[in-house]
Amino acid sequence: MTTETQTATETLGDSARNELVVCGRKLLEFGLLSQTSGNISIKLPNDDVYITPSSMEYDRIKNEDIVVVGLDGKVRQGSRVPSSETPLHCLVYETRPDVSAIVHTHSPYATTLAVMGMSIPAVHYMIAVLRTTTIEVAAYATYGTEELARNVRDAFVAPSKAVLIANHGLVAVGSTLKEAADAAQAVETLAGLYIRSLTIGKPNILSDEQMAEVFAKYEKKPA
Ligand SMILES: [Zn+2]
Repeated sequence: MTTETQTATETLGDSARNELVVCGRKLLEFGLLSQTSGNISIKLPNDDVYITPSSMEYDRIKNEDIVVVGLDGKVRQGSRVPSSETPLHCLVYETRPDVSAIVHTHSPYATTLAVMGMSIPAVHYMIAVLRTTTIEVAAYATYGTEELARNVRDAFVAPSKAVLIANHGLVAVGSTLKEAADAAQAVETLAGLYIRSLTIGKPNILSDEQMAEVFAKYEKKPA
């Protein structure tokens, strides 16, 4: 690696740390993350993955607490233990080259549907921002295991930007951390709409034709 490339990577790394700390606090404020549950990461072009540490409250995490791991999950930099869901983050990055950031949360509405094993259909046209017409549910496995990572990978078909995890939470992805965080927020909004409409009766779900029109419009000018 030349000195110039090294400096560029270090600069990218510094901004990744910063983004993760700021985003973690925002997601905490918005109620998508709570205490130490959930985790977020950014993958750099050199495949260094910057990830939040395990068991640290989001308002206490500082730039130096962020851990750098390789796609094999091994720690490359940092004194903290990386998030217990590091295998999940690494496997999603490995199988989805379109993904450069991941947000994993246990946000309440999305997790309620995940507990019920219910996928989220096209209850609102804004599901198009997630590049799918259905947010699928990955099968349950113990948190932090390779099995859970594989279940998420199997349920997470590109270009979809979100998937629920049975009895656990959700995973949202993006090409930037902001995009992944916005996707996590969108899943929580859609889950809230779906649950509230189910309490009144049978929700009207948008048809594939109606969603195709939304996607066509979205391609020209994202909502
Ligand atoms: Zn979790």
